[in-house]
Amino acid sequence: MLDVRDLSVDYGSIRAVRGISFHLAKGELVSLLGANGAGKSTTLKCIAGALKASSGSITLGGVAITSSSPEQVVRAGLATVPETRDVFPDLTVAENLMLGAYIHRRDRAGNRDNLERVHTLFPRLAERKHQAAGTLSGGEQQMLVIARALMSRPTVLLLDEPSLGLAPAIVDRIFEMIDTLKRTGLTIFLVEQNVNQALAIADRAYVLRLGKIVASGTADEIRSTTDLSAHYLGG
Ligand code: ATP
Repeated sequence: MLDVRDLSVDYGSIRAVRGISFHLAKGELVSLLGANGAGKSTTLKCIAGALKASSGSITLGGVAITSSSPEQVVRAGLATVPETRDVFPDLTVAENLMLGAYIHRRDRAGNRDNLERVHTLFPRLAERKHQAAGTLSGGEQQMLVIARALMSRPTVLLLDEPSLGLAPAIVDRIFEMIDTLKRTGLTIFLVEQNVNQALAIADRAYVLRLGKIVASGTADEIRSTTDLSAHYLGG
C-alpha cells in the first residue's frame, strides 16, 4: 500500500533521515518508534508532501508520490494527522470536519454518508457538533483531528504521536480508537514514543535512531529482540 525506499531528507546541510526503507501492506497497522529527534516527524512530513525528499522514492498503491504536493498526496488517498493537533478553534466541530472533506466538496451525498460513519466511530463528536472546537478537551481535539483526516476518505492514515501530552486514561481511549479504525480495514502508520501501547496494537514496527532504521519486525519480535530502552531513550 505504502512503499518507502532509500528515503533521505535534509534540513540544509543536516541529514535528518538517512536512506530508510519500509512498507505497509493493506490493512496493516505499522508503528515507527524512536526517541526525540530520531527523524520520525521528518519522515511523516516527507511522505505527506510537506518536505522534499533529497533522494529515494515513495509510492502509494503503486503510484509515485515522492514529489507530490500535500494536496496531491491527500487526493492520492493518504491523510496525515500531525502531532501539532491543530483544530480551527473558532469553527464548530461540524465545520472542522467538513474542512477535512474539502477535496470531495462536490460530493455532498458522499460526505453526508462519511460524516455519519465518522459520528458512529466518534459519538462524542456527534454530541458536540455545534460546539467551538477550541473549547474541546485535549483528548476530544485529538479525536477531532483524526476524524477530520477520515473525512478525506483515505486508504492510508499517518498518525504522528497521537498520545502526546494526554492524560493516561485518555491515551488508553485514543489507542482503543486506533485499534477500532484498524478493524475497519484502514492501513495505519503510527509514529509513537509510547512504545508499549503502540506495540500492543501494531502488527509490525520499525525502530528509528539518528535517522536510520535500526530494527524491524512483528510487535512480538521487536519486544523480545530489541533493547527498546536504548533505542527509545537514545541511551
Ligand atoms: P520528536 O518526537 O521530538 O518530534 P522526531 O523523531 O520526530 O522527534 P524530527 O522532528 O524528525 O524527530 O527531527 C529529526 C532531526 O531533524 C533532529 O535532529 C531535529 O533537530 C532536526 N530538525 C527537525 N526539524 C528541523 C528544522 N526545521 N530545521 C533543522 N533541523 C530540523
